[in-house]
Amino acid sequence: MILVEGKSVYGDICIGKLHVFQIKKNIIKKYKLENTAQELERFEAAKTQAVGELEGLYDKALSEVGEANAAIFEVHEMLLEDPDYLESIQNIITVNQLNAEYAIGVTADNFAEMFAAMDDEYMRGRAADIKDVSERLLHILEGGSGNEKILSESSIILADDLTPSETIQLDKSKVLGFIMRRGSANSHTAILARSMGIPAIVNTGIDLKEEYNGKLAVLDGFDGKAYIDPEADLLEQMRERQKESIARKEMLKSLKGKENVTLDGRKIKVFANIGNLSDLALAMENDAGGIGLFRSEFLYLENNDYPTEEQQFKVYKQVAENMAGREVVIRTLDIGADKQADYFKLDKEENPALGYRAIRICLTQTDIFKTQLRALYRASMYGNIAIMYPMVISMEEVRQIKKLVQEVKAELEQEGIPFKADVSSGIMIETPAAALISEELAKEVDFFSVGTNDLTQYTLAIDRQNPKLDSFYNPHHKAVLKLIRMAAESIHAEGKWIGICGELGADTELTEEFLLMGIDELSVSPSMVLDVRNHIRGLDLSII
Ligand code: PEP
Ligand code: MG
Repeated sequence: MILVEGKSVYGDICIGKLHVFQIKKNIIKKYKLENTAQELERFEAAKTQAVGELEGLYDKALSEVGEANAAIFEVHEMLLEDPDYLESIQNIITVNQLNAEYAIGVTADNFAEMFAAMDDEYMRGRAADIKDVSERLLHILEGGSGNEKILSESSIILADDLTPSETIQLDKSKVLGFIMRRGSANSHTAILARSMGIPAIVNTGIDLKEEYNGKLAVLDGFDGKAYIDPEADLLEQMRERQKESIARKEMLKSLKGKENVTLDGRKIKVFANIGNLSDLALAMENDAGGIGLFRSEFLYLENNDYPTEEQQFKVYKQVAENMAGREVVIRTLDIGADKQADYFKLDKEENPALGYRAIRICLTQTDIFKTQLRALYRASMYGNIAIMYPMVISMEEVRQIKKLVQEVKAELEQEGIPFKADVSSGIMIETPAAALISEELAKEVDFFSVGTNDLTQYTLAIDRQNPKLDSFYNPHHKAVLKLIRMAAESIHAEGKWIGICGELGADTELTEEFLLMGIDELSVSPSMVLDVRNHIRGLDLSII
C-alpha cells in the first residue's frame, strides 16, 4: 500500500482505478533533414489539424460550459497563429534543418520559460497553454490526435497539474476524483473539483508512475490522503465511510425544495456563488434560492480581451432567465490583486492586495465600468438582477458610482433601450473601513454582502494568497466577527439586508452565530448549499 498526502480541495471519499496522465518527457527525437520544404508542409498540416480540433473543442465547451469557459480554446488557436511562435518553429526547420517535432519542442520550452518568468500572473498562466498547444501538435505529428485524454471507465485521475484544455476534455461523468502531483487550491482542477463536488487533493508530490495505471486506489478528500493498493482492512473502513458519505448526500438531496428554517422558525436565504454558466447549472441542481455572488470578473479572466457589452449582456441575461425571478446578485468587475488579465496592462505593484483593484479600476477607467453597467441594466429586463460593488471604502466612491449609473441609464433611455429603473444596488463589506462606516453606506444602497475572504485579509493584515501564513489566517478571529456583527446592526437599523458571500458563509461552525447576528443570507459554493440548509434545519435558537 502506498500512502499519498496532499492538500484537500474537496472533502469526500472515492474508490476506483487510477488513470495516470503521464507527462511525456524527452521522447522528442532530433534529426537532420534534407527536404525542409516537405517538413514545413508536415508542420503546416499538423497545425491545420490542431486548429480543427480546437474549433471542435470550442463548440463542445460552448454547449457544455458556456462562452466564457470555451474562450480558452480561442486562446489556444491564437497561440497557434502567433507569428513569433510560428517563426521560431519555421526557422529551426529551415535554417537549422531539423525536424518539426524538435522545432516544436524547443520553441515550446523557450516560450513557456519566457511566459513563466513574466511578472504578470495572467501571462505566467499562459506557460501551461503554450505547452498544451505544442503537445497537441506533437501528438498529431505522431499520427494521433491532440484529444487523447479519453477515459474509458470511471477513474481517479492522477496527474501533474491539468491544463484547462485537459480539464474540459475530461468526461466529467467518469471522473471519480483527482490526485494531483502539483497544483494549488486555486488551480483549474481545484476549482472544478470543488464546484462539481468530487474529492480532490493537490500538491502531493507523487511520482506519476506508469505502473500505477489501473491500480486500485482510495482517495480520502476529508483527510487529504490517498492510498494506492490499499490494504484490505483500510479498504473496508473506507468503504464504510464512503457509504456514510453517500447516505449523507442522499439525505441532503431530500432537502431540495425544503426551507432554510431553524427548528424555532427562523428563516434565512441560502444562495450560491458562481463564476460562470456551468456553476449556474450546479447552483440550480443544488436548489440554491438565488445567486448571492456572481463573480463577473471571470468573464474577463477567461477572455483575451475586454468582453464586449453584447457578450456580457448575453451571459447576464442567461443567468437571470435561468433563475426565473429568483434574485441574482452580480458583482461588478473585481479585477486586480490576485485576479489579473494581461490586457488590462496593470502595473506591477509592491502591495497588489492594497493596490489598484476592483472599484478603484472601475472608477478610474470608467469606459470599462460603463460597458459592464450597460450590459447589466439591459439584462435587468430578463429577471431579478441586483448589482453589487466590490471593495468600496467611502461615501465618495458611492457617489461616483451613482453618478456613472445615472449616466448609463440616461444613455440607454436616449437610445430607446429598455432597462429596469429600480435595480437594487449593494456593497461588499470587504474592508474594516466599509464595516465601520456601514451605517452611512446603508443610507445609500439596498443591501450588503460580507466578503469574509478579503475582510479577514484586511482586518488581520494577512495576505490571503500566502500559503506560509495559512496558520495565521483565521477568519474566526474575534475582530472579524465583531466587524460583521457591527455591520449587521447598523445595516438593519436602516432597514436594509446583509448577507455573507465569503467562504465563511459555508462554515457551519459559525452558522448559528450568523443567525444570531441576524444575517439575512448566506451565499456559498453550489456544492455546499444543501449542507448549510441541513445545518440550519437542526438549529434551535430559542434554547441559547
Ligand atoms: C471575499 O472577499 O470574501 C469575496 C467573496 O470576494 P473574492 O473571494 O472574490 O475576493
Ligand atoms: Mg473579495
